[in-house]
Amino acid sequence: MPSPTVDTVALADAQRELERQLEERLAVIQELAPFALPSVDPVTCQTAASHRLAVEQITAALNRIAQGTYGRCSRCGRQIPPARLEVLPHADTCIECQSHAEAA
Ligand SMILES: [Zn+2]
Repeated sequence: MPSPTVDTVALADAQRELERQLEERLAVIQELAPFALPSVDPVTCQTAASHRLAVEQITAALNRIAQGTYGRCSRCGRQIPPARLEVLPHADTCIECQSHAEAA
């Protein structure tokens, strides 16, 4: 029987996973910081930028957990399949909206 919302256990799991990823990303950013300058190392700079973007997405997902809107697609408002959240805990759109966004 499909559940209409992400249950509390899954939510706690997602939060733990997001917090773990956040810590990991922040550690990497700190490590890269001395080299992450376009004039020093453009590649590292880009890597650091993508980590910072991930930190933003993870932080946003943690905020959604706090607000009780986690697991809902930000575009169509439908439930994001739990399998997708398992792979991508910071996903804020369902697969359908994501593919629309990528095609656009
Ligand atoms: Zn959607």
